[in-house]
Amino acid sequence: MSQSESRANVLALYPEDTREAAALLKQAVPLMVRHNIPPNPVHYALWYTYSKGQDPELNRHLDRVLRDFDYFPPESATKLFREYIIRDELEDVRAEQQQVISLVDGMERDVSRSVKGNLTFQNRLGQCMEMLEEPVDARLPDILSELQQSTRLMQSQQEHFLAQLQSAQSEIKSLRDKLERAQRAATMDGLTELLNRSAFTRLLEQALGNASRGVALVMLDIDHFKQFNDLYGHPLGDRVLQHVGQVLRGALPANGFAARYGGEEFCVVLEQCADLTAAKAYAEQLRLKVQALRIKARGTDTVLDTITASFGVAFAEPGDTLESLLTRADDGLYQAKRNGRNQVQAMEKNRHSSSEPLNAGS
Ligand code: GH3
Ligand code: MG
Ligand code: MG
Repeated sequence: MSQSESRANVLALYPEDTREAAALLKQAVPLMVRHNIPPNPVHYALWYTYSKGQDPELNRHLDRVLRDFDYFPPESATKLFREYIIRDELEDVRAEQQQVISLVDGMERDVSRSVKGNLTFQNRLGQCMEMLEEPVDARLPDILSELQQSTRLMQSQQEHFLAQLQSAQSEIKSLRDKLERAQRAATMDGLTELLNRSAFTRLLEQALGNASRGVALVMLDIDHFKQFNDLYGHPLGDRVLQHVGQVLRGALPANGFAARYGGEEFCVVLEQCADLTAAKAYAEQLRLKVQALRIKARGTDTVLDTITASFGVAFAEPGDTLESLLTRADDGLYQAKRNGRNQVQAMEKNRHSSSEPLNAGS
């Protein structure tokens, strides 16, 4: 895709005319001023899109960032810009790059084969010349010698071309690595190395689309984390989040994925899960693993307060949507908090009204 086509794709997200665009900007700018957000193109794009409301997921994300931080962290802005505004561009570029790589790989294979063939031919020619003890035709040795020279020339040209192709290949590989890193940044949460929220939402939607699978959702939120931050500072709080990320990655079954859903809130999806009871048992194991974490203050042997988390669990039933499943797990999480934290609440789908806890009181 050419650069101009790529620009056209991004612009296709914003088809509004000048008057509509001005109205949106009039909403976006006061928001930016109110939250003390520096006026740069990335921020304009984010808050313009926010005012437009075309991606509720982005709006929820921005609301959350504003709620959790006293300022708008620049790294969050760049991350959100990549995740929500140029996401499709990154995917397009990757697909096209893959095509170029296959093409160059194919050319390299062909030229290699031809170089090898040439070499064999040249050797064979040399052998033939040695075998010609009594020339049948006086001109034959000259003809063969010329032929040999021209194949040598061709050989060296092909070797040169091959070297150029190989250097092009390594350049493309390094570009691909860069792109993969950028894509990773667009789908992963940098702190915990879990999926980020938008990648998670997309995967969960896909999982729910595949009705034959048993999809369970475990949602967890660290207990009294604000207090922990206040007591030990944000950097140690970040380390707690990293450790919880490690626990979730370490305990992830083959058919599952885990994400940092928000500040100190995480989600795990189990696919091909038997039922709500099995999902609850899995969440209970996670709870114990989080509780067993021992985090020391840097450079000391002092173990900080025990970290605990509360869990809500839901199992997808026919008719469930992304929203209904998330709401049910969230309801479970809320119950777990209300009942005293550091516990798991699995929510049955109630056919009539709201969800109900499985084995209430457990
Ligand atoms: P509860 O048990 O009810 O969940 O209480 P809580 O204090 O954990 O919940 P609350 O939602 O009041 O606070 C969440 C805190 O998480 C507030 C915010 O400072 C912190 N937080 C969110 N994101 C980050 C982060 O990236 N790093 C650190 N260190 N703290 C974060
Ligand atoms: Mg929370
Ligand atoms: Mg919390």
